[in-house]
Amino acid sequence: MIRLNGINKSYITGNNKLHVLKGIDLHIKAGEFVSIMGSSGSGKSTLLNLLGILDEYDAGEYFLDNTLIRNQSETKAAGLRNQYIGFVFQSFNLISFKNAMENVALPLYYQNVNRKKRNRIAMDYLERMGLAEWAEHMPNELSGGQKQRIAIARALISKPKVLLADEPTGALDTTTSYEVMQILKEINSEGITIIIVTHENDISHMTNRIIHLKDGLIEHDLVNGKTG
Ligand code: ADP
Ligand code: MG
Repeated sequence: MIRLNGINKSYITGNNKLHVLKGIDLHIKAGEFVSIMGSSGSGKSTLLNLLGILDEYDAGEYFLDNTLIRNQSETKAAGLRNQYIGFVFQSFNLISFKNAMENVALPLYYQNVNRKKRNRIAMDYLERMGLAEWAEHMPNELSGGQKQRIAIARALISKPKVLLADEPTGALDTTTSYEVMQILKEINSEGITIIIVTHENDISHMTNRIIHLKDGLIEHDLVNGKTG
């Protein structure tokens, strides 16, 4: 599903060049449930953003479902994201003036699905998340765990093949974190490839493969606890 060959990425600010990814080689098969770990600043979000076609790399190759992702126009990138990728963020990124159902339905609005239909589909996803009765509530009336489930429902509504989540439990307490991980596990068991970034060991152990980034490279890659 995902193949990276020698991916390099630097950030340039003023006269400084920060070389963040120094040749990442990685293959993630369809249906895997992977966590990316590493200390703060190790490039986890940078890597996830490249995978989500939210940012570009400097050198190497990224194949998503055998399509080379490189120098896409913004329109092409948006199309590929729509077709393949769902994104979940630590801070939920819900729209504060839209209710839960409208937040979930938003990707379908951009696909020109009419309001009645997109709200009906959004309700199905809210129901799957156990949140049907919260449909009319605004984000500020919801708990962190509820907001993250809404963000997950929003990410799933366009039927992505890959779900990317950057510290999805980073703003949640332990119990709520485990509930969110359980939901991700169920989604993965339905065949969606999931890649999360986390710096919590217990969270990473709920995935099937743990990739450690250090100094711009993959330091270890453990599949079910064994060196991959
Ligand atoms: P992580 O998610 O592992 O904490 P990041 O990928 O966010 O790390 O960042 C890696 C390094 O790149 C950090 O030193 C960070 O400050 C720097 N960085 C991230 N994004 C940018 C950017 N847009 N411009 C300049 N430097 C950046
Ligand atoms: Mg980060």
